[in-house]
Amino acid sequence: MSETIDVEALFGSRVFTLGKMKERLTRQTFAEVKRVMEQGGELPLATADVVAKAMKDWAVENGATHYTHWFQPLTGITAEKHDAFVSHPDSEGRMLLEFSGRELIKGEPDASSFPSGGLRATFEARGYTAWDMTSPAFLKEDATGVILCIPTAFCSYTGEALDKKTPLLRSMEAISQQALRIVRLFGNMEATKVVPSVGAEQEYFLVDREKYLQRDDLIFAGRTLFGAPAPKGQELEDHYFGTIRERIGAYMKDLNIELWKLGVTAKTQHNEAAPAQHELAPIYETANIAVDHNQLVMETMKKVAGRHGLTCLLHEKPFAGVNGSGKHDNWSLCTDNGVNLLDPGVTPNANIQFLLVLACIMKAVDTHADLLRQSASDVGNDHRLGANEAPPAIISMFLGEQLDDVVKQLVETGEAAHLIEGGKLETGVSTLPDFEKDATDRNRTSPFAFTGNKFEFRTVGSADSIASPNTTLNAIVAEAFCEAADTLEREMAGGKEFELAVHDLIKEYMGRHQRIIFNGDGYSEEWVKEAARRGLPNIKSMVEAAGTLTTDKAIRLFEKFGIFTRVELESREEILYETYAKTINIEALTMINMANKKYIPAAVGYTRTLADTVIAVREAGADAFVQSELLGEVNGLLSAARKALKELERATAQAGAMQDAKSQAFFYKDTVKEAMDALRAPIDELEMLVDKKVWPVPSYGELIFEV
Ligand code: ADP
Ligand code: MG
Repeated sequence: MSETIDVEALFGSRVFTLGKMKERLTRQTFAEVKRVMEQGGELPLATADVVAKAMKDWAVENGATHYTHWFQPLTGITAEKHDAFVSHPDSEGRMLLEFSGRELIKGEPDASSFPSGGLRATFEARGYTAWDMTSPAFLKEDATGVILCIPTAFCSYTGEALDKKTPLLRSMEAISQQALRIVRLFGNMEATKVVPSVGAEQEYFLVDREKYLQRDDLIFAGRTLFGAPAPKGQELEDHYFGTIRERIGAYMKDLNIELWKLGVTAKTQHNEAAPAQHELAPIYETANIAVDHNQLVMETMKKVAGRHGLTCLLHEKPFAGVNGSGKHDNWSLCTDNGVNLLDPGVTPNANIQFLLVLACIMKAVDTHADLLRQSASDVGNDHRLGANEAPPAIISMFLGEQLDDVVKQLVETGEAAHLIEGGKLETGVSTLPDFEKDATDRNRTSPFAFTGNKFEFRTVGSADSIASPNTTLNAIVAEAFCEAADTLEREMAGGKEFELAVHDLIKEYMGRHQRIIFNGDGYSEEWVKEAARRGLPNIKSMVEAAGTLTTDKAIRLFEKFGIFTRVELESREEILYETYAKTINIEALTMINMANKKYIPAAVGYTRTLADTVIAVREAGADAFVQSELLGEVNGLLSAARKALKELERATAQAGAMQDAKSQAFFYKDTVKEAMDALRAPIDELEMLVDKKVWPVPSYGELIFEV
């Protein structure tokens, strides 16, 4: 029998929640903190001192010895530098643990080793971290002990964002301001802000740690760079939602417990499409907290795997030939008086505010499809997007039958008089209830799908932070809201009736941006052609997407809402090229290493065995036809591999010598990656021929079926 898990007691036990703050602060201090959290502004230093002490006391009572400003540099993961709470001993040598308000609010990690894309050279090496009061502090526990983690934003000396959180917070302010203008026009005077809510479904693979450790490619690149397909893949779909195996179940249980302690609402778990692939989804929450929590989810997934003799792979494409991993970013907008702006209600055709919001989102996504595509690109995701896998690299929107019909009516006639109803779903079994059918079926191939009361942005990669996609979404929709509000306010000032003005605007936006709607099969070849005909961008890779950050259109958008300056955008583009080049370089070097040290020696050894066999068989007076034919084949592949290896070595050296980050990144994509594929092919073929006993690494079959 297993022990009972007291989820209510566990949940948030490692988080300095508002509740704990309330218990430990005077009513007045607590009110002050809450006001700044909700309305922004600065906490006076004296108050910060009080909060810091309360936080430190709570942390120390729970075993903490250190604190850290936990931040999210442009590496895409989190960073921390630990400081002990120790201070100068008193005159009698006694230690009193200390933590001041100043230390809570502001930190100064050495910024010089984080990517800055040239910002550092132009400005200053200094970097500052500033407490994001809206995301609660928490305790992390590992071999280092217990560390109080304070979520922070990371900026340069001159205020440029060096991280993913700062622009996200700026974008949240922008969308709140602009969305408020919209709801005010519809008479909502109570709301004081509009908050983007985000729920990120996280996919991941689990492999056996012993086997993982035998594969340099998994260790250094996080994905397999070689590997012949297993006899079975995912074609039977027997893994999807399948029974969870004992070992994986124990992992999931442990993972949930750790996440609940950290205040992450781990809610749904299941097996995914590929063998060894799984998914975890938390309940949605405010965007910046969801971003922080997703980082914790990824970190905890890796940490807990170790305890179970497993390794968690978050890479977007750990194995060729089976599905890769993504992250569905569910996004909606809610006012602080409880209205979800994306909730169509029962009669969406009559819900004018919803239709205006929808029209604005259509406009935003169509106008900035390139930026949305960019926001979800990382090196690993290139193996999914535009590479015949879910979802396509072309950004389009799925609205479903009912809404699609409403949009069509509005565009054609200016009225949406009727509504496609869901009706009843009859099960045909008297003991089963009949269901109210949704008016819309689900579509699994759309990159940006409306799912009831939220959009599900499915392009995001599994290993990537969800900060950029949400920053971009907030920014582009803020722009559309702003333009709509400008127009409506202007027209009303000119005497136009509100109803009429809104009506005309919805019709105009929907008509102009209807091309972004696509309800068909997003994976099909026809769609690629159709999208081209519609003039929708099809950006095939991360390096091609990087440039979208610095178009005039993008700079105008991000500067208008104070989300990025031109300089920040240029630096980010630069970092993307650098990151791409470095990542592919590591992959290429790993391949060279594995080929030289493992695969070629194994195949060479095998030819020796075959040659000996041929001689022995012939000496015995028999015909060695099969043996010598096999020897010939292995030998042929060996020489092809050797030739490809030399070519990869040459290409990698040439890439390494290039100076300009952009051309270097393109060279890695166009030349080095080609050379990598050319080396992989003969080695994978060798794997199919060479005796398994002498093959130097675990096979796909062993990695994904024997977990
Ligand atoms: P699925 O996509 O598999 O059907 P759900 O739609 O139930 O699963 O939920 C997927 C994720 O979307 C969860 O993280 C859930 O909390 C989140 N979600 C649900 N409603 C909203 C909303 N209004 N805004 C943002 N995220 C939401
Ligand atoms: Mg989903």
